[in-house]
Amino acid sequence: MKNVIAIDGPGGAGKSTIAKLLAKKLNYLHLDTGAMYRAVTLAAINENIDFDDKEKLIKLAKKISITFNKNGEIILNDKNVSQEIRSSEVNAHVSKIAAVKGVRKVLVEKQQNLAQKNRVVMDGRDITTVVLPEAEHKFFLTASLAERAKRRYQEVKSKNNDADLEEIKKSIARRDKLDSEREHSPLKKAEDAVLIDTTELSIDEVLKKMISLIEG
Ligand code: C5P
Repeated sequence: MKNVIAIDGPGGAGKSTIAKLLAKKLNYLHLDTGAMYRAVTLAAINENIDFDDKEKLIKLAKKISITFNKNGEIILNDKNVSQEIRSSEVNAHVSKIAAVKGVRKVLVEKQQNLAQKNRVVMDGRDITTVVLPEAEHKFFLTASLAERAKRRYQEVKSKNNDADLEEIKKSIARRDKLDSEREHSPLKKAEDAVLIDTTELSIDEVLKKMISLIEG
C-alpha cells in the first residue's frame, strides 16, 4: 500500500508525537487510532453505559461520529474532544473497551477507509498487524516503562495539571498488560516492522532514523 505508514507500540513510546511530525514533514494526514478508542470511551462515560455491556458499546461505536479535523484533532459528534479524551477516567477504561471485538471491528473499518482515501501516517496497537498489514512502511516504537512513564508525567505537568509519576507508571503498566494479553488483535510487533527502541533517543533522532528508512 503506497503512501501509507503504519506505527505501533505501547503507550508513551512516542508514537503519536513522532507520527504527527512525520505526517507534517511528508504532508500526509496523521491518524491517531488511540484517540478513536478514547472517543468511544468518552462517549460511553457521557452516556452512562455499563462497560461490561458489550452490545451497548458496539451500538454506541456504530452510532457516534468520529472524525479528525485538518490539524489531526479528534471530533466526536461535532465536538473537539482532543483534551477530554486524555482524562484519567478515560485512561482507566479505554483498554477494556478496546478489547471488545465488535467495537474494534467498527473502528478498524473506519481506519481502513481513511487509509484508502488519504496518504496517512497511522499509529496505534494493531495497525501493522491487522488494520494496514500491507502498509508501505511499518514501524514498532518502544521504550522502557520507566522512560514512558517519565514522558507522560512531563506531558501532564507541562499542561499545568497535577501528576503522580508512580500512578502514571502503574496506569501504563496496566494498559500494557491488557493490550498485549487481550484475545482480539493484541499488541505485538509485526515480523516485518522495523523495531526502534526510543529509550535513549531524542524525538529528532527517532524522526531522522525513520525518514532515512522511508526515503531509503
Ligand atoms: O495510544 P493511546 O494510549 O492513546 O491508546 C489508548 C488505548 O486504546 C490503548 O491503551 C489501547 O487499549 C487502545 N488502542 C487499541 N488499538 C489501537 C489504538 C489504541 O486497542 N489501534
